[in-house]
Amino acid sequence: MSAQIIDGQAIADEIRTNIAAEVARFQAQFGYPPGLGVVLVGDNPASAQYVRMKRRACESAGMKSVGHILPASAIQAEVEAAVKALNDDPTIHGILVQLPLPPHIDEPTILSMVSLEKDVDGFHPINIGRLAMKGREPLFTPATPTGCMVLLERMGAQLEGANAVVIGRSNIVGMPVALMLMKANATVTVCHSRTRDLPDIVRRADVVIAAIGRPNYVKGNWLKPGAIVIDVGTNQIDDPTAPRGYRYVGDVEVATAQEVAGAITKVPGGVGPMTITLLMQNTLKSAWRSVGATT
Ligand code: NAP
Repeated sequence: MSAQIIDGQAIADEIRTNIAAEVARFQAQFGYPPGLGVVLVGDNPASAQYVRMKRRACESAGMKSVGHILPASAIQAEVEAAVKALNDDPTIHGILVQLPLPPHIDEPTILSMVSLEKDVDGFHPINIGRLAMKGREPLFTPATPTGCMVLLERMGAQLEGANAVVIGRSNIVGMPVALMLMKANATVTVCHSRTRDLPDIVRRADVVIAAIGRPNYVKGNWLKPGAIVIDVGTNQIDDPTAPRGYRYVGDVEVATAQEVAGAITKVPGGVGPMTITLLMQNTLKSAWRSVGATT
């Protein structure tokens, strides 16, 4: 069997075209665009690069983007003031606090301060709590897990009653995607670094979400034939043959996995482009909600 390769970039491009049209419609109706506010603290090059990409993507869709870029030496009060300024700014509809924050900053307090109505990253404890509760709906769901769910939907994955195995339980990927799969009526098993017999558990899965952060960790012979595999992992590995001396691989060993899986996402070009797209979509949704509309 040779797996279908899920091209997240192509799906993301299609969704972004729709977002740009909706942004233009919003701008024409109200005279101002949807706005995203970003808080970045410190000089982590990967975080700075993610923030640049997110702001550029928003601007290319016609949205406004405002950055509060603070040095690594910023104190708690300064980060709180940046969030408060964005909370109070009526032209800002979504707030993104780029994680991780430096260790001296109290991250839970900062995330709790983000206005619930502008929590387009979906990390406010109330939004996560609503995601976990039966019969409650969050205002926003986190971008990366939502991107995984959109890819599954586009693949026509039948989630109801399916065995879904999530490898990883982080606050930003594993835990929320497990909650979303459960809401979609899958039977969900969450695995982590202390899980025993991981290959045996993965072998029962109709759907596998790998969010571990270990290059090529999940092997093809762990998979059930025909399984749908969403590889969230983005791991930089040395490659002297690559122009920059390195390249990115996922958490799943694609060469062996594509012989067994029914479908598998590309890395790069799978979940990554969906993350930024879903953040844009949440910001647009928030802008419409701010004027009392739902679309
Ligand atoms: P993280 O916070 O480091 O969490 C990793 C999770 O994997 C933890 O729950 C950990 O278990 C588990 N784990 C580690 N080693 C394991 C093993 N040998 N067997 C089973 N589980 C293991 O990472 P993250 O932030 O969730 O990110 C995961 C990956 O996704 C990374 O490669 C990251 O770059 C990527 N990512 C991509 C996007 C995107 O947009 N494409 C977005 C976010 C993250 P414990 O809880 O027991 O420690």
